[in-house]
Amino acid sequence: MTKIDWQERAATLSIEGRAFINGAYCEAASGKRFAKHSPIDGRPLVDVAEGGAEDIDRAVAAARAAFADGRWRNQDPAQRKAVLLKLAALMREHTEELALLETLDVGKVIGNSLAVDAPFAANCFQYYAEFADKSVDEIAPTRPDEVALIRRTPLGVVGAIVPWNYPLIITAWKLAPALLVGNSLVLKPAEQSPLTALRLAALAKEAGLPDGVLNVVPGFGEAAGKPLALHPDVDMISFTGSTEVGKLMLRYAGESNLKRVSLECGGKSPHVVLADADLDAAASGIAWGIYYNQGETCHAGSRVIVHDSVRAALIEKIIAVTEAQIPLGPPLETASQFGALIDENHLNRVLSYIALGQAEGAKLAYGGQRVMQDSGGYYVQATILDGVTRGMRVFQEEIFGPVLTVTSVQSEEEALAAANDSIYGLAAAVWTKDMDAAHRLSRDIHAGTVWVNSFDRSSLATPFGGFKQSGFGRDRSPHAIDKYADLKTIWTAYRGRASA
Ligand code: NAD
Repeated sequence: MTKIDWQERAATLSIEGRAFINGAYCEAASGKRFAKHSPIDGRPLVDVAEGGAEDIDRAVAAARAAFADGRWRNQDPAQRKAVLLKLAALMREHTEELALLETLDVGKVIGNSLAVDAPFAANCFQYYAEFADKSVDEIAPTRPDEVALIRRTPLGVVGAIVPWNYPLIITAWKLAPALLVGNSLVLKPAEQSPLTALRLAALAKEAGLPDGVLNVVPGFGEAAGKPLALHPDVDMISFTGSTEVGKLMLRYAGESNLKRVSLECGGKSPHVVLADADLDAAASGIAWGIYYNQGETCHAGSRVIVHDSVRAALIEKIIAVTEAQIPLGPPLETASQFGALIDENHLNRVLSYIALGQAEGAKLAYGGQRVMQDSGGYYVQATILDGVTRGMRVFQEEIFGPVLTVTSVQSEEEALAAANDSIYGLAAAVWTKDMDAAHRLSRDIHAGTVWVNSFDRSSLATPFGGFKQSGFGRDRSPHAIDKYADLKTIWTAYRGRASA
């Protein structure tokens, strides 16, 4: 489809902005709505229900009632599997609609929403559905007249709080394993990106998910997220977002009912490039690793730590890949690979970091400007800051935009020290042909994922999450199932035969 086709489709798209509680769309209790604008052109898309504490109470009560009467958790596992598979199938039927909504909502390019965000989210429901009738629990060794069952049981009501950069995918990463185990959920999407979550709720109902099992309350962090995280009847908060707000989640849990908390927070992932690296491969991995999704990716490889002997050649190659393969353009244009930043606040934040880096002494080696301003949207060029040192804030702080910093080192040891010089530990990459060095570095870099001679390769079968202040708990893989379950031991003694 061309840009015109997508624009025509967008003009006739019906967009739902109401909350979804107990199986039905509804207004916020206060009646308040907030205007959701598209970052593509600044135009209003829809007015969204502005959820608050009263709506969270209603949603938690609906989720609790659904959990208590067992309408989902007590269904035959084969039936739960069928519902989740049906949801995956419906999402695939609605791929174009979901992709368009996602692009309009957050400004990412339509090619990626179509090929990655919408299908990957559907695949996630399929992946976890398959566990429903295949996972088995455990029996511990005991005396012969006793049985000790170790059963995995759902936690109850799970609150999911998600960010705006991959709304569909991150929502699926949380919902699918939590639903598989039998929990009920209240989802609070980011205020910047509520649209696909609200649509997903109706698709889940159509797939056969009973009312009350999945509730979606849009709204702002303080007004809707906080009462959810503080709620005494919520058993777990599964959070993805900034480290700053992640820390609040731990506080809220302590101040309320000691609910479980799983945190997927910020990142500042390093690329370590040694002198013997294949520079073409490294340049490609680095350019895509920072400019994909406009750099609004938690694990974006935003810090290049490179041996000084190849620094200049590497930068040249990164720029060449960027210019040849990652054009910035209107997000509804299928050729665009790099779209709009989420909103004006974020645009100003990214621009202020570019200015700060230069004020700190870094050199602007590429990009750095706001562009396409007359579109009404929020676009910043792919940017490289060279000559960045470890003490600079642009080296230490998450910018969450298309800004790459380049730091020179003279040795593997210096590279390792620089890579680990961060409060974050989400991901990293190592580029070298020396497999000894690759093994040493991948072992010693503190990060939840280390790619060797590659970047951003992943599958649903691999766990994703961070070390240090990037959080704890893992999304994806069978390990994610465990975080939505409690282990219960049931120890039964039984009488032997009278004759024995
Ligand atoms: P954010 O922390 O500002 O917001 C995340 C969510 O928390 C939103 O839904 C927001 O409304 C809510 N929130 C904000 N304040 C709250 C409060 N006081 N109480 C309860 N909820 C509150 O993050 P963001 O700007 O939406 O997303 C960007 C951040 O997310 C970056 O730091 C990025 O690295 C991180 N992120 C991490 C991962 C990961 O898997 N580790 C993935 C994507 C994004």
